[in-house]
Amino acid sequence: MAIHIETPVIASRALSLRTGKQVRLKLEALQPSGSFKTRGIGHACEVYQSRGAKRFISSSGGNAGYAVAYAGRMLATPVTVVVPATTSQRAQQLIRSEGAEVIVHGESWMEANAKAQQLMTATDAFLHPFDDPLLWTGHASMIDELARQGERPDLVICSVGGGGLLCGVVEGLQRNGWGSVPVIAAETAGTESFAKAVENGAPTLLPGISSIATSLGARQVCDRAFALTQEHHIESVVVSDAAAVAACEEILLEHRMLVEPACGASVAALHSASPLLEQARSVVVILCGGVGITAGQLAQWSADFGS
Ligand SMILES: *Cc1c(COP(=O)(O)O)cnc(C)c1O
Repeated sequence: MAIHIETPVIASRALSLRTGKQVRLKLEALQPSGSFKTRGIGHACEVYQSRGAKRFISSSGGNAGYAVAYAGRMLATPVTVVVPATTSQRAQQLIRSEGAEVIVHGESWMEANAKAQQLMTATDAFLHPFDDPLLWTGHASMIDELARQGERPDLVICSVGGGGLLCGVVEGLQRNGWGSVPVIAAETAGTESFAKAVENGAPTLLPGISSIATSLGARQVCDRAFALTQEHHIESVVVSDAAAVAACEEILLEHRMLVEPACGASVAALHSASPLLEQARSVVVILCGGVGITAGQLAQWSADFGS
């Protein structure tokens, strides 16, 4: 039994008219946990459970932690999420609402993660937010669906944080005979760990994260995400926070869905000057979603960025 649901892919008339291309949106924002994360994490949790795991442990206060909590409830398995004190009350509440135990420890993710590692016993499974082949295989199911749902696109656009989604998208393209479909990897300025890896020819540690797109805030991409640049046609696109927020407003106005700037980055990439985009006639954007957003927060960011 899969933990994720099959999501629709819809043609976006508004984005198609604006870009002069056939734009489709794969609606991962409709997953019960609010983001695509439930695909990979749900798959990994099922595999770890079949190998004997009695508890799932995470150190993410974001969409990954929430997806682990959701998967735990679906699999009737206890979940512990260790988060730093900086994690919002709302995020903690969401995770608790799935029946997971939330432990608040330390001032930064590093400290929370160290605590989570200490808690690990032989019958616990740790769910990494992006660097786990089981996650990539689970994420790839979105492309299996896409292949059943319509014709081959000329281009796929997805967002990149630590690179788990990118690894899953490429795995999915390759296993569906779409290995020649190129991918735009979208990030915001201030979370551009993939762009830096491409620039430096190796995964590179960003000095810090300076963007509101916190779900993209991995300071370094996983090795596999960088290695894929040698195997698959992937172009890096970096957009501003202002462009990501404007794209969230565009999705809200045109499709009445509320998504995080981490997701808006992929939509904003549609409006960027990209060689791959120029050549593409039909484009699929992975609308990856995210629960770290409210109508009030988006309005505030729009005011801040003057969009
Ligand atoms: C996790 C996440 C991303 C980035 O995914 P990675 O696998 O870390 O690259 C993008 N958008 C949202 C909404 C996310 O939750």
